[in-house]
Amino acid sequence: MKTMLCPECDFKIEVRHTRFPHFACPRCQCEIRISRNYLLCVRLFGTSLAFLTCYLVGLRGVSLVLSGAILSLIMSGILTILGLVIAPPTIEKHIQDGSLGLR
Ligand SMILES: [Zn+2]
Repeated sequence: MKTMLCPECDFKIEVRHTRFPHFACPRCQCEIRISRNYLLCVRLFGTSLAFLTCYLVGLRGVSLVLSGAILSLIMSGILTILGLVIAPPTIEKHIQDGSLGLR
């Protein structure tokens, strides 16, 4: 199984080390984060699954939108945690938005 590695020092990152939105590598203290593409995919999947579930249980109109929105937050959270264990994401260096990542 693929493991999550620090992009700076190759330290093996475990699920218990991960924080959102970013965290420090336990060995080199470099600011790292879970790949944004990964989080985006999980959220899209969670949202689709949430709305599909609500639709299949018979919700329509406003109640479908409201329930879907609430359930998608819950689903995305659960899928993100499960995903870390089942399909470990790529770890990337945390770059502050609006900067080029240069020091
Ligand atoms: Zn590191």
